[in-house]
Amino acid sequence: MKAANSVFSSLGTTIFATMSALAAEHGAINLGQGFPDDEGPDDVRAAAAKAILEGPNQYPPMMGLPALRQAVAAANKRFYGLDIDWQSEVMVTSGATEALADCLIGLLNPGDEAIVLEPAYDSYKPVIEAAGAKAVPVSLEPPHWSLPLESLAAAFSAKTKLIVLNTPMNPTGKVFTRAELDAIAALLIRHDAYAVCDEVYEHLVFSGHRHIPLMTLPGMRERCLRIGSAGKTFSLTGWKVGYVTGPAHLLQTVAKTHQFVTFTTPPALQSAVAFGLAKDDAYFAGLAASLEAKRDRLAKGLAEAGLDVLPTDGTYFISADFRSLGFNGTDDEFCRDITMKAKVGAIPLSAFYADPAKAPQHLARFCFCKQDAILTEASARLKAYTKGQGA
Ligand code: PMP
Ligand code: GLN
Repeated sequence: MKAANSVFSSLGTTIFATMSALAAEHGAINLGQGFPDDEGPDDVRAAAAKAILEGPNQYPPMMGLPALRQAVAAANKRFYGLDIDWQSEVMVTSGATEALADCLIGLLNPGDEAIVLEPAYDSYKPVIEAAGAKAVPVSLEPPHWSLPLESLAAAFSAKTKLIVLNTPMNPTGKVFTRAELDAIAALLIRHDAYAVCDEVYEHLVFSGHRHIPLMTLPGMRERCLRIGSAGKTFSLTGWKVGYVTGPAHLLQTVAKTHQFVTFTTPPALQSAVAFGLAKDDAYFAGLAASLEAKRDRLAKGLAEAGLDVLPTDGTYFISADFRSLGFNGTDDEFCRDITMKAKVGAIPLSAFYADPAKAPQHLARFCFCKQDAILTEASARLKAYTKGQGA
């Protein structure tokens, strides 16, 4: 029989699903896949419940409910000073995952190249390849994950159509600096390229750091598609409501992809997210402060268990170097070992690289958007485990 699509038939199940299943099988605390273990804000959920009961529940407009597109435009102004036309420059999607696919398929032609900074979120590469384009990886070096400007400049070619820029960055917790963004902007202008900006963690940034959308830099307004996610901004990852902000000349084509991928997104969830985006500053500051305290709690626990903790300035994630424990194996083996023996799940960093041979093999990613008691218990379990390892 004829083979199915070669990009997808060669792929395994995502590392997040695999490690979540392993954690469930072994009764482990799941600090692998990134999702909060609470239910999200009561008022946002109440708005969704009310909207479901009152309707309408039929297809909403293809670009998204006007109320949510207006709320996204207003949030762009409020948080970043961006003037956005909600009718032609905002589109609602079924999660950032769909937004990424729409943007990449909408921009790329077969033969194009797309630069991907590694470690990279897992959905970028398969979608780039499904569009017939080539993903060109550029690696950031641990432990500081600074942008290697020379290799980045060398990765651009006449075929470069775009860069995928994820800041704050999963899995590193890196928040790109203004100087790094300036350098990326200069390259995009020099090579007449675009940026697909995955900013799902835009509000999850910790003290002393500030999220700067690339789109706010000179010359970037016309070259960036900026993606947000209600899943992260309202701790409602199962809702899958995302939004793309971008210039009309790009969004027009991206909308054509969306119309044949999902076409629309549940209207009740859209109106609840519109309500959420209008919440006061205390909500957004409180979300970041609460996660920062959780980061600190888990960082302390991991350090007490003998791991070398890497800095993290945003997102849900913290990475740790386990070589200090004397563990003799790869990151994948380490994550499986702690899931089965310590009963704490994590994600191996090498899973975020196209070529595992080029990936660091000594880092594990832990998710800290969990109840304090869970983080404390996970830390105690890891401490008991490392004691048993003789560390
Ligand atoms: N990009 C990154 C970097 C992510 O971590 C996630 C989380 N799953 C997504 C995109 C997808 O977001 P969503 O759940 O809204 O599809
Ligand atoms: N973004 C989540 C993470 O990095 C996972 C989402 C998924 O399972 N696809 O953990």
